[in-house]
Amino acid sequence: MRQRNKPWADDFLMENTQLIIPNPSNYKGKWNTLFENNNPIHIEVGTGKGQFIVGMAKQYPDVNFIGIELAKSIVVTAAEKVLEADPTNVLLLNENASDLTEIFAEDEVSTIYLNFSDPWPKNRHEKRRLTYKAFLDQYKAILKQPGQVIFKTDNRELFEYSLVSLTDYGLRLEEVNLDLHAIQDESNIMTEYEEKFSAKGQPIYRLKAYF
Ligand code: SAM
Repeated sequence: MRQRNKPWADDFLMENTQLIIPNPSNYKGKWNTLFENNNPIHIEVGTGKGQFIVGMAKQYPDVNFIGIELAKSIVVTAAEKVLEADPTNVLLLNENASDLTEIFAEDEVSTIYLNFSDPWPKNRHEKRRLTYKAFLDQYKAILKQPGQVIFKTDNRELFEYSLVSLTDYGLRLEEVNLDLHAIQDESNIMTEYEEKFSAKGQPIYRLKAYF
């Protein structure tokens, strides 16, 4: 994703610690205390500019959403969207999702969304794909049974890779869809990338996988 240089991003992060939570490992096992309820927690890995998480928070007010975004300048854009919509059920983390077990306790998360994850097409970068087995270890460790991973992408190669990786790991696949927008799923909240690629006529792939 293109990142504009935002020199004020550090200040923004420091001024919005109620939304972009610093030192998230402090809340491991205690995220519900921040939301002040016991609703299920859904996380989005690679939140990007925040359209999906804001839309989901509005559609599902009884779910707590936590968006995890590695890039500082991008999490700031997501935060601006959250602040504008002002939902009470969204938090953001400016973190690398490779350390999820540092952030969440066993059984703390109900659903993980992976939306238009970077494809990392070169074989030598396989370990960076968010459906690589090391990431699946992390997801398995924090998901409550029957924990689900919902993955959407426009990238056929990454989708095919993920079908194999998830199946090899032992996940059960459901609702494998090769053209999501053809089925008119009214509940589908589009991400920024989804809007961009579907406008170009590219099919959107989606699967749901269960540990
Ligand atoms: N999900 C958004 C969408 O569909 O519009 C953004 C998609 S963009 C291609 C992928 C995003 O994932 C980027 O913003 C990138 O910084 C973030 N990302 C990639 N690897 C990550 C990781 N290990 N942890 C957290 N975020 C990550």
